[in-house]
Amino acid sequence: MKVGILGGGQLARMLAEAGLPLGLKFLTVDPKADACAASLGEFIQASYDDPAALDRLAGCDRVTCDFENVPAEALAALARRVRVAPSASALAAAQDRLVEKDRFARLGIPTPGYRAVDQRPDLAAAAAELGLPLVLKTRRMGYDGKGQFVLRQPEDLELAWREIGGEPLIAEQWVAFDHECAITAVRSATGELRCWPLSRTWHREGMLRLAASLPEVHPLTAAARDLVARLAEDLDYVGCLTLELFAVEGRLLANEFAPRVHNSAHWSIEGAACSQFENHLRAVCDWPLGATSARGPALMVNFIGEMPQSHDWLGLPDLHWHDYGKLPRAGRKVGHATLLADRPADFLRLSPLLGSAEAQALASIAAA
Ligand code: AMP
Repeated sequence: MKVGILGGGQLARMLAEAGLPLGLKFLTVDPKADACAASLGEFIQASYDDPAALDRLAGCDRVTCDFENVPAEALAALARRVRVAPSASALAAAQDRLVEKDRFARLGIPTPGYRAVDQRPDLAAAAAELGLPLVLKTRRMGYDGKGQFVLRQPEDLELAWREIGGEPLIAEQWVAFDHECAITAVRSATGELRCWPLSRTWHREGMLRLAASLPEVHPLTAAARDLVARLAEDLDYVGCLTLELFAVEGRLLANEFAPRVHNSAHWSIEGAACSQFENHLRAVCDWPLGATSARGPALMVNFIGEMPQSHDWLGLPDLHWHDYGKLPRAGRKVGHATLLADRPADFLRLSPLLGSAEAQALASIAAA
């Protein structure tokens, strides 16, 4: 079977790494010549709506995406010629933060207070209605904290407007969360849904730095599963999706969802019976889903900007190294490592290799 992937970044690369042993072949399409999945199968350098590239994808058995911002129209046109999963409408549902939050509201999935901001007076109204601090986000094409501005005092309204005003925006209440977490689910075309254990996540400057799967059943796990199931059913979703959440005073508030495999569940490659990448492909190919149970505590560390010295890491027992083969660049995710351990306290072995904020996060896991 051949799977076409729109987007050739690290997610496509890890999909191919999971799918090759299953006998799958891959064709990836990406506008960048140095897309890091290119070496794992056939590769076409082209825009996502390039007619010749879409013709080639239409010749695959299945098509999926490693990126939610591929033009939904191109995917919808492709879906008339080949099985596409997740659907163009599921992708479109995640492409606009306002549409996404309105869907959460309709499904009874709690969110921070929010308001559309199209004109400058809307921003003043949002600040009056929702209070400060407030986070202003572009409705489209925002990821890893890009296109965001946190307003803490009245003077910030003007600054924020100058920075990102003029395009459709959403203002959200700033959540003083206890912690962040994410739930990843896989759903088959027949409606079977499985979830991995809840991932605890730590972000800095809008980017995911650490994700952990911890052994104890998190008290909010059942609630998170219910929320992601509601969303997956509503979208008639096929494949993996992740709901990112804020935990605050024993409640969950949804931040956003990703209609694809997700960074917060990379630990599942070595840390779960079946990884998110393999299960995504199983769902897309109509194969039986694999077990989503964790093998034990797992911690994933993102490498952002450049890869660290591998020698410092590879000596640790049960440490798994992923270098995406990307050129170093500030703010770019270039790799990750996952440490499996008997107890969360063993994660402290990584502390000397991490910055102070991340080392502090490890200390908090170990102390819990
Ligand atoms: P996003 O691009 O919406 O996923 O935001 C990236 C990160 O910024 C989140 O994981 C949070 O750490 C932080 N963030 C975003 N929105 C909010 C919010 N409304 N309240 C508090 N923190 C937020």
